[in-house]
Amino acid sequence: MSDIHSFGNPGESRVRHVEMDLTVDFESKKLRGAAALALEPAGRRLILDTRNLTIQRVNGSASAFRLGEAVKHLGAPLEIELAAGTRSVLIEYETSPEASALQWLQPAQTAGKRHPFLFTQSQAIHARSWIPLQDSPGVRVTYSARIQAPAPLTALMSAARVREGHFHLPQPVPPYLIALAVGDLKFHPVSGRCGVWAEPVTLAKAAREFEDVEKMVAAAERLYGPYRWGRYDILVLPPSFPFGGMENPRLTFATPTVIAGDKSLVALVSHELAHSWSGNLVTNAAWRDFWLNEGFTTYIERRIQEEIYGRRRSEMEFAVEVGELETEMKGLPPGDQKLLIDLAGRDPDDGATLVPYVKGALMLRALEEKHGRERFDRFIRGYFDKFAFQSITTEQFLEELERAFPGEDLSRWLNEPGLPPDAPKIRYDFEEAPSRRWATQEWLHWLRSMPENTGAARLAEIDRTLDLTNSGNAEILTAWLLLAIRAGYEPAMPRLEQFLVEVGRRKFVKPLFEALVKTPAGRARAEAIYRKARPGYHPITQSAVDGILAGK
Ligand SMILES: [Zn+2]
Repeated sequence: MSDIHSFGNPGESRVRHVEMDLTVDFESKKLRGAAALALEPAGRRLILDTRNLTIQRVNGSASAFRLGEAVKHLGAPLEIELAAGTRSVLIEYETSPEASALQWLQPAQTAGKRHPFLFTQSQAIHARSWIPLQDSPGVRVTYSARIQAPAPLTALMSAARVREGHFHLPQPVPPYLIALAVGDLKFHPVSGRCGVWAEPVTLAKAAREFEDVEKMVAAAERLYGPYRWGRYDILVLPPSFPFGGMENPRLTFATPTVIAGDKSLVALVSHELAHSWSGNLVTNAAWRDFWLNEGFTTYIERRIQEEIYGRRRSEMEFAVEVGELETEMKGLPPGDQKLLIDLAGRDPDDGATLVPYVKGALMLRALEEKHGRERFDRFIRGYFDKFAFQSITTEQFLEELERAFPGEDLSRWLNEPGLPPDAPKIRYDFEEAPSRRWATQEWLHWLRSMPENTGAARLAEIDRTLDLTNSGNAEILTAWLLLAIRAGYEPAMPRLEQFLVEVGRRKFVKPLFEALVKTPAGRARAEAIYRKARPGYHPITQSAVDGILAGK
């Protein structure tokens, strides 16, 4: 099966192992060095994916390759003729300062403010902007690396640290799971196999927030079988990280915006950990099958949360997620509300709505309710064992489902927009009156249930007693600022600007800019704020906001 988002020719020559030797240059914002690729099979021609890479030599020759024309969303194919019997290639190259996977942070953009920081985000198809390889989730590779970073900074990867600057990952993974971070990083152990990496000023707070991580791994193992990756550590990144988390093997990358102080947002850790089974162990073969990664993971996230914090809390979190899904779907074209999405001619990042996540989880919940938890758990565990370290399509999942539950029909979920009429209803009785004891999700439910016409006077009244404009919880603050923008509540606007300049997580930034551009005055404000905020955003967040301001 071919992947429309890769130029690679794995059927003819397939990359199996990548060995990187890279120097991190903060001055020029470049990675420089070489990648050696081991091939099996190896035909007469190898085609790789690249994006904005400068290729200097292949196997020592400056002419033994051809870099094709760049194609929108995909980058440029790198074609290499292979002499008969050649089973490996050595590519000397450097990245561009605009590489879409790399974010180079100035010291001012970090928590400690003293050292620069670099991190990668390879999913969906950004690995090709820092490593020349066959950048398809169907082409799994093992990797090793030597990373030279300036002292006193520490380099970390989604791999075992053999010794300072040397890494090895023996399990074959899709290229989007290759990850690197370089910064002023310190470690705090939580258990024998789990711990937290963060900048020194963030470390103690982060380690407290994530102290249940070992319990989470143990709970997931009870449900779905052994954790197969050795260590499970969490790396807390600076606030410009565009996502909530990224499930890089052995080392989840996480936004600092989930450190709420009361563990109310640690479902994110359950989610990224769940990817150690769904996504990293059994992977979507192409980006149209993204729900296989995220629907399963969102479902398993619920199950882990239930094991650790109880059914009541897990259902509350699920109810809030389903509410977010329903709101988002109202603004999505019907095609994007299907689980099996058509991404032809599109950037796979476009498919990263809540549909594959929450609609996918609801579909699995429907199967659990219909067939009973015990039988369904057995099915999932068998599915992970059978397809471990493989990349599979939706069709392969459906064949497996048919074997376990003959006649089961998921076509309404997969191929039709919206939620089927018999979708599970996630019920939770939220309290009416705000309480200081409320968890984040209760605040979100309350704020999002406010009538459309809630005016500035009412918000001022609420702010006097609850001081939401100064909330340090990014989820609550975003819900509040959305109300403030809609109502024209001016006292919250300086905080809005401060938040948008400081935090680059797309989940918060995108809806706030979308709300702003709905009025002419708001658009002017959005443009003014974006001039200050854009240089601090990751390319993925920049691209989302560029689109909003261009009216796309
Ligand atoms: Zn995920």
